Amino acid sequence: MKRRNLLKVGAVVPAMALATPAIAQGKVEWKLPTSFPAKAPGVGTNVTSFAARVSAMTDGRLTLKVFSGGELVPPFGVEDAVQNGTAEIGHSTPYYSAGKNSAIHFFSTVPFGMTATEHVGWLRYGGGQELWDEIYAERDLKPFYSGNSGVQAAGWFKKEINSVADLAGLNMRIAGLGGEAMRKLGVNAVLLPPPEIFPAFQSGAIDAAEWVGPMLDQAFGLNKVAQLCYVPAFHEPGAALEVVVNRQAYEDLPKDLQAVLANAAEATAHETIAQFGYFNAVAFAQLKEAGVDFRNLPAEVVAALREASKEVMAEQAAANPVFANVMESYDKTLAISRQYAAALEAPSIMQRVG
Ligand code: CA
Repeated sequence: MKRRNLLKVGAVVPAMALATPAIAQGKVEWKLPTSFPAKAPGVGTNVTSFAARVSAMTDGRLTLKVFSGGELVPPFGVEDAVQNGTAEIGHSTPYYSAGKNSAIHFFSTVPFGMTATEHVGWLRYGGGQELWDEIYAERDLKPFYSGNSGVQAAGWFKKEINSVADLAGLNMRIAGLGGEAMRKLGVNAVLLPPPEIFPAFQSGAIDAAEWVGPMLDQAFGLNKVAQLCYVPAFHEPGAALEVVVNRQAYEDLPKDLQAVLANAAEATAHETIAQFGYFNAVAFAQLKEAGVDFRNLPAEVVAALREASKEVMAEQAAANPVFANVMESYDKTLAISRQYAAALEAPSIMQRVG
């Protein structure tokens, strides 16, 4: 990247750079495209807050110009743009790039997988971040965790799902490996970028749609198309968000600015989890009040999805040794987390209900 020397201005300043006052002052602006609408709560706040933090923490030495999903590059093209230098830094959720390597799913979420708390624990203490770094280094990217949606909704449906047979033939927008599990049960699963979900659901191009959960689904108006929402998601018990940096651009940063990126991502992750936690509850209450019918999927359907998901995970592991390697690490943490959560967390939540 041509920009890589811009932060090294000091004793030797390229003549061209002197023509730009901001650079002469040691200030750099990076492009930051996101996969999501920048004004959306949660996913959009995750990137705009991050950019504001970086600017504030560096007193403007490093400014990140946010481009909303589709503005600079297509929503699913963010990581490519950062890899090829169209942008120095990007914002997305890892599994939008799972076409590069199916193992990437684990850094967002997988069906019947970890909660947000368990996932960040695996990333930090269970070896997850090291695997993430290693896999992204192949594309010259450095990934940072920047938060999590928490448990998502299974989706909005125009008709009731009372049996596995009711899924057959449905056109459904669904993200992640859950889409593969749904395919095994006869669903025509499609992954539409976020801005296309509402129009496709409204026009009837799709019969069902999962996006995130109450806060974002309400913001996107999915409740205006259907009043039936199944919860919780089997496929996204906690989907992570990321900031990815072009490795060369990152390595050329002074150490203090590298630390700013890491700490701004940490602070933004904290804010995002709080935001989803609070405003999902607010939106859930509002949607219920407005007549939305929230239901659990029938046990028979959940059991079929669990079996289908096991098959999907086994198939993916057989097809890609990197997937198998990451799954081994992920499952090691999940095995102990599942036991702990079933013994303490689930009963704690249920005993409040009485
Ligand atoms: Ca989702």
